[in-house]
Amino acid sequence: MNNCQSKQRYDRPPPPPETQKKLDLCEEEAADLTLREIRCPRCNFVIDKVFSDAKGHFLSKCPKCKSQYIMNYAYFRRQKGIWKLKLKYYGKDYLEKLNKE
Ligand SMILES: [Zn+2]
Repeated sequence: MNNCQSKQRYDRPPPPPETQKKLDLCEEEAADLTLREIRCPRCNFVIDKVFSDAKGHFLSKCPKCKSQYIMNYAYFRRQKGIWKLKLKYYGKDYLEKLNKE
């Protein structure tokens, strides 16, 4: 391992106890959730990994192609093309319903 680089980047003090408590709580809550990848719409690079209860909008910035998009977690699920089928069977307001859930 190259020591000179990791010293600066990784030798930071651990988070304060109250933050660590929150982190532990998050880990506990996430134990029975599934993890999925959010990919860049342009270059398909993995921007982020989110748990199955992620909801709402976020600003994504791709570290690879540097493009920024406002994305909704609800629209970017693992199943490919399934939303077209869902629109067909559940109606056009399906995506709106998905947000209100
Ligand atoms: Zn990209």
